[in-house]
Amino acid sequence: MAGNYTFEDDSQLLLGLVELSRTYGGPEYVRAGGGNASVKTSQVLYIKPSGLPMAALTIDKIVALDRAALAEVYALSADGPAANAQAKVVEAIKRAVISSDKARPSVETPLHDSLQWRFVVHTHPALVNGMTCSQDGRHRCAQLFPETLWIDYVDPGISLCIELRRAVQVYQARFGVQPPVIFVQNHGLVIGADSPQLVRQLHDHVMQVLASFYKRAGVPLALPSRQVSEEQRKQATAIIQKAFGREVVVEVDGGFSCATGPLTPDHVVYARSYPLEGLPTEKAVWDYRSRFGYEPRVLTWDGLVCGVGKDLLEARTALELAQDGALVVQLAAAFGGVRYMSEQARLFIEGWEAEAYRLKVLQSRS
Ligand SMILES: [Zn+2]
Repeated sequence: MAGNYTFEDDSQLLLGLVELSRTYGGPEYVRAGGGNASVKTSQVLYIKPSGLPMAALTIDKIVALDRAALAEVYALSADGPAANAQAKVVEAIKRAVISSDKARPSVETPLHDSLQWRFVVHTHPALVNGMTCSQDGRHRCAQLFPETLWIDYVDPGISLCIELRRAVQVYQARFGVQPPVIFVQNHGLVIGADSPQLVRQLHDHVMQVLASFYKRAGVPLALPSRQVSEEQRKQATAIIQKAFGREVVVEVDGGFSCATGPLTPDHVVYARSYPLEGLPTEKAVWDYRSRFGYEPRVLTWDGLVCGVGKDLLEARTALELAQDGALVVQLAAAFGGVRYMSEQARLFIEGWEAEAYRLKVLQSRS
């Protein structure tokens, strides 16, 4: 199949995929390299490669996979989501690739393949995560969005795919079709439909229902803004550099309260599970490092919030995720307050090889 395969065969579908990926690649829907979009024929699944921001997708970057080869993953995953099964799954996904680019397909590829919908878009909107990262989210979701599917938190990757396939089967037995809208607790949104227009309509509906719910609850849809002066920026940078004991890049914002725990896999990957709270000192950074095994990416004191990284992209991404996380916590107040990920879920992400890869790809783009 690899020999006579050309993109032109499915060019309309690929154009539709690129448009959707760009539409839902904005900060309202995803941050950094998170989220994904795909389109499929009966034989081929086309998907955005891992780590590439959705908004940056172009036709030549799309990864194509042989769906028959991809089906091997489901047989493997019957063994359960053990660590060696995860590695085998990653290998099986790689083997199914038929496009020539070396870009790696996402570990969420089988999830896209599992849904019958022609187009599938997976994002992490703050408006949605205000509900999925909350105490009453599951219960309220059933009222606000009957006929959608809610999935309790599952480790991303093959575990999520296995659980999704099971839950979709149950849903299909009940409603006669697969769910077009799926909410994943402490993670995000999956929307599927057979045309880009329908994908857009479903997104519009979800976002409108949530926006009016937050409005009725009196919860603002944006963070309070605060001007940070050049002087404050310089001071904050100097304090952080001293505490880290070396040159680091610092991006500064303020006027909002950070999330104080792990919200979703992407927040853990790009901003770490916990911010370092209080005036940063060498001892505070050392204590943080000995507690978690890595350095903080987000530091907050005196109303300032700083993203830290070895380069501008890493620092800016950390700050963006801190802002997004703060908004999620603010919105979750409308759903009975925030619900953080469990310790077990956090540790899985912190040790996850695939996420490390995604971070590396994002960094290589700077
Ligand atoms: Zn995701």
